[in-house]
Amino acid sequence: MVWRLLSFVGLQSVAAALAWFLVEPAARVLTALLAAIGAGYLWLLFDAVRGMRLLNWLRRGESTEVALGAGLWGEAADRMRRLLRTRERQVVEGEGKLQDFLAALQASPNGVVLLDAQGRIEWFNQIAGEHFGFDARRDLLQHFGNLVRDPAFAAYFSERDFSHDVVMPGRDSTSAKPVRLSVHLHPYGEGRSLLLSRDITAVEQAEAMRRDFVANVSHEIRTPLTVLAGFVETLQALPLGEDDRQRYLGLMAQQAQRMQSLVNDLLTLSRLEGSPLPSVHDWVPVPAVLQACETEALELSRLLWGRAQDIVFESDAPCELAGSQPELHSVVFNLVGNAVRYTPADKSIRVRWQALGHGGAVLSVEDTGPGIAPEHLPRLTERFYRVDRSRSRDTGGTGLGLAIVKHVAQRHGAELRIDSVPGRGSVFSIVFPASRVRAMAELSLATV
Ligand code: ADP
Repeated sequence: MVWRLLSFVGLQSVAAALAWFLVEPAARVLTALLAAIGAGYLWLLFDAVRGMRLLNWLRRGESTEVALGAGLWGEAADRMRRLLRTRERQVVEGEGKLQDFLAALQASPNGVVLLDAQGRIEWFNQIAGEHFGFDARRDLLQHFGNLVRDPAFAAYFSERDFSHDVVMPGRDSTSAKPVRLSVHLHPYGEGRSLLLSRDITAVEQAEAMRRDFVANVSHEIRTPLTVLAGFVETLQALPLGEDDRQRYLGLMAQQAQRMQSLVNDLLTLSRLEGSPLPSVHDWVPVPAVLQACETEALELSRLLWGRAQDIVFESDAPCELAGSQPELHSVVFNLVGNAVRYTPADKSIRVRWQALGHGGAVLSVEDTGPGIAPEHLPRLTERFYRVDRSRSRDTGGTGLGLAIVKHVAQRHGAELRIDSVPGRGSVFSIVFPASRVRAMAELSLATV
């Protein structure tokens, strides 16, 4: 400020002094006065031009620098420039933080939608786009309620009680492949809302399966239990002869056996689900497993049919399998047991172990029984799924055998295949990968 005053007064003084010395003495005073006033106007004009340049620079908002040198306008320009740079840096930093934040929301496994106070979509992540079928270019700033017209959501939105979520079908939901979404609105800021969506299809399916499973187990146990209780009551109430007593006790033993088999299979399944995968270093000799199953199959056949069926066991290469011996035994016996139970006494059963070209091997159990209609095949490994309910029960089936087989096969990296022609018979095969099969060592061969 001092410099401005000095320069203003200085310029006027210099102009006045020059006029004083350059003109006639008679006109000196007036000329010096006029020169000083003129110099003052010149100074003001020059100052106004500098001020205008700064103002124009600010108006244009250009990033190029304006050179105003030193002085008040120069300093003002300098300070404004610095202020602008600081602001620009803050904006860039803020933008970067916003992008980081949005990237984090984008990475969320749940759908995220940001709604403004009017319920219009300000932003959504990719998962939300998939859940509701939104398009980033088309649907931004659209009213969420106009795009998602599910009645359950509309009621939830209008009630404005956001203390809980609402469950609605997803965009791709069909009756064959339902998709269920849990949607929860969380109000924040001034009337804005954060909408979170979660795909709960798998959770709901697991819950439904759990409910079905409990209902099935209860039903399976209740039936023999009711029969047992009936016999106990009869034995208590009636003075029966020895023959009747023995017959009733035999029937009771049968029901008890049925419950025992069911509990054993349930325990096997829960052990399979809870235990670590079978080791790839424990080698089980396949011929020993086949031999044990052959003996048991013949026993079961005699028990069920009064005489052993025509059961043939064949193996084209003595191999060892990496895995769990009890699990492999239960797989083979379940398949062979089913063949024995469902194949009439006069028909034949063939169990084969074959090495495959790529180093793997296949175990197949082929029967000439009733066969299974194609529509049942995909569901056979479901727990408690039975094609022939009474045949299964009469022969001591639990409805869990193939579920166990599939589980064990998966744990050994193997695949269960089922081919069947109604009226002709069925083939159940388990294909083991090369990594779990090896030719039998000479030493082991001698001991089998
Ligand atoms: P189950 O204890 O009832 O035999 P599984 O899970 O072992 O239960 O088998 C499921 C159903 O598949 C059986 O109830 C039966 O209807 C059918 N099934 C299994 N194996 C055979 C077979 N070899 N021949 C015909 N039907 C079979």
